[in-house]
Amino acid sequence: MDRVDALVVGAGVIGLAVARELARAGHEVIVIERAEGIGTATSARNSEVIHAGLYYAPGSLKAKLCVEGRHALYARCAERGIAHRRCGKLVVAVTEAEVPALEALLAQAHSNGVDDAVLIDGATARALEPAVRCVAALHSPSTGIVDSHGLMLSLQGEAEDHGAMLALHSPLEHAAVTPDGFEVQVGGAEPMRLHARMLVNAAGLHASAVASRIDGLDTRHVPPTRFCRGHYFALAGRAPFSRLVYPMHNRAGLGVHFTLDLGGQGRFGPDVDWLPVDSTEDYAVDASRIDAFATDIRRYWPGLPDPLSGALAPAYSGIRPKIVGQGEPAADFRIDGPELHGVPGLVNLFGIESPGLTASLAIGARAASLLA
Ligand SMILES: Cc1cc2nc3c(=O)[nH]c(=O)nc-3n(C[C@H](O)[C@H](O)[C@H](O)COP(=O)(O)OP(=O)(O)OC[C@H]3O[C@@H](n4cnc5c(N)ncnc54)[C@H](O)[C@@H]3O)c2cc1C
Repeated sequence: MDRVDALVVGAGVIGLAVARELARAGHEVIVIERAEGIGTATSARNSEVIHAGLYYAPGSLKAKLCVEGRHALYARCAERGIAHRRCGKLVVAVTEAEVPALEALLAQAHSNGVDDAVLIDGATARALEPAVRCVAALHSPSTGIVDSHGLMLSLQGEAEDHGAMLALHSPLEHAAVTPDGFEVQVGGAEPMRLHARMLVNAAGLHASAVASRIDGLDTRHVPPTRFCRGHYFALAGRAPFSRLVYPMHNRAGLGVHFTLDLGGQGRFGPDVDWLPVDSTEDYAVDASRIDAFATDIRRYWPGLPDPLSGALAPAYSGIRPKIVGQGEPAADFRIDGPELHGVPGLVNLFGIESPGLTASLAIGARAASLLA
């Protein structure tokens, strides 16, 4: 049986970031990915926003790793020429009743170390973004956007420069804890059995399924993952804003917000659509959601043209890997190392939803440090 230092399951942004850390530390690394390429799942189906770190409970992993990850991400983008733009963002209160929540968000942002976030009045917000409707806004200059695929290619490249290997069409089927690591059965066109001293489960939506296939890991340490889909609609024509615009009021999640891609095309989303337990990855976008989108958007952009005239078109969706159920308080990232579950050499990453892309470099460093 072939032996390797570290086996990473999943070649999304998180698996690639962990592989890069482990390879740079001198370990021999194989990344196994069940799909035909890197980053085809959640890492390709998100808003590509570099979050500042406004939204997360102070002291949480999300707060800490978002801020750390953002600094590391901007530095990496600058160093390696990864396309990105520090465009900034407004979180807008459209009624006076929403202002206290905006003030609380600002206080939380400052506790999280987002020092450049400031509160501005409606007139100042309109001086920045003339099309926006609001009475006040939180301005976050350090929010940005990034080419997520460019980031993943750079991580893959750096990991490979340090000797890591990527095996596509290679799903983990089963693993068993042994006295000195793991015996892993990999399926696909060329099934193989491997012995790995370290195993990192970065399988995203399927992290719980992968963890439950590890003989020797107590099932108490495997939370169920629930799928929560978010849809996007693309905006035809010229973008109304040069910054990202998020509503303060929201029904769930961060609210249907306005983001830009690096080509300057505007889009709105994601909404919140809990899929039934045991759903498969269903990325359909139901066009009939257009009215609900238009209602949400018009609160802060009254100038939205008639969506039925073709201004909005169904674009794509992504699925959040939730480890709590609908209506429960948001969960933190789980980066479970040996101290938690008692299996030497194993790290499971559960619930890596937003801001996972922003935090990816910091998550990679943390996961690797649990194996040091
Ligand atoms: C709608 C939406 C919007 C978001 N917006 C943002 C944002 O703007 N900014 C931000 O910072 N974050 C955002 N996120 C979060 C971010 O996209 C994720 O945190 C991040 O992409 C997670 O990466 P991952 O590598 O854990 O998962 P994935 O990208 O899903 O990668 C997991 C990989 O594991 C593979 N895999 C699964 N099972 C197996 C198996 N058995 N064997 C081998 N491989 C397997 C999959 O094929 C997949 O490639 C958003 C998420 C969603 C859903």
